[in-house]
Amino acid sequence: MKITIDEELCCASGLCTVKAGEVFDQRDEDGIAVLLAEAPAAEHHDAVREAAAVCPAAAIHIME
Ligand code: SF4
Repeated sequence: MKITIDEELCCASGLCTVKAGEVFDQRDEDGIAVLLAEAPAAEHHDAVREAAAVCPAAAIHIME
């Protein structure tokens, strides 16, 4: 699995950090999501898929 975040789309909702805090964080200055792991370990895959599903901006893209 490889993840990218479209910063232009991200509206800084923070939901991804709630769903998968080991993989997503938010920039202090504007709340835009940043990746802690572009290719997360298998144990985080379900949480990452859930984060992508709930992202209100559809800003999280997953390549399986
Ligand atoms: S859930 Fe989506 S819109 Fe919200 S911070 Fe994460 S990437 Fe940005």
